[in-house]
Order: sequence, then structure tokens, then C-alpha cells
Amino acid sequence: MKGELYTFRSTKHTHQFECLKLDLDFNPKGTYSITQDSLGRLHCSCFAAHRHTCRHREMLAVFANGLLDTGVFYEYDRRKWYAVDTDGHISEVEDTDSIADGVSRAKAPTTHQPSQTD
Ligand SMILES: [Zn+2]
Repeated sequence: MKGELYTFRSTKHTHQFECLKLDLDFNPKGTYSITQDSLGRLHCSCFAAHRHTCRHREMLAVFANGLLDTGVFYEYDRRKWYAVDTDGHISEVEDTDSIADGVSRAKAPTTHQPSQTD
């Protein structure tokens, strides 16, 4: 089956993000680095870097809305979202709001652990 999944991670640099590309069997296919300059413009390390935008920069705008570092995957061509549950099963997600909600619940501090803010 042909297709690509993408997920985005933040890095230790505030204005730099990493895009991980995988095939539909979740084999890593490559990474792209996306940086935002002081004017707010995004630059991508992919082959389309000279263009005004590319799929990675488009997707970053979506992932930046609460989905960075969540481990959810986006299939660009079919506009579908996938998430890995606690048992390691991959399932399609209809509503990305529920992903963001689930993540904030998962990250909520438990009993005696001090919460981390960074
Ligand atoms: Zn790109």
C-alpha cells in the first residue's frame, strides 16, 4: 500500500521542529527539519525548500495546534489521523480535538509527582 504518514516533534530550539515521515507500516522514511525565522516564515529542509510552502510546512501549522509531540500520525494524501493506544494498536482517529484532550489528560500530574512546567 502506498502512502505516507507524518508526525511532528518539537526540539530543544523553540523555533525548530522535526517532521518524521513513515510508510503505512510505520517504517521511518526520513526526517525533515522545519525552522521559523524571526519574521515568522517557515523553512523546510525537504526538496521543495525553495518553494513558498510544502506539505511539511502546511502540516506543521496543523500539528502546532496542540498536536506536537503527541505521537499522532497524519496521512497527508487521505487526510486521516492515526493514534497508537496504550496497547500499541494503531487506530484511526476521527476527531483530533479528542487527541488533544486525551494528551492533556495523560499529561495531567498524578498524585505525588510535582508537575513540570517548561
Ligand atoms: Zn517540506
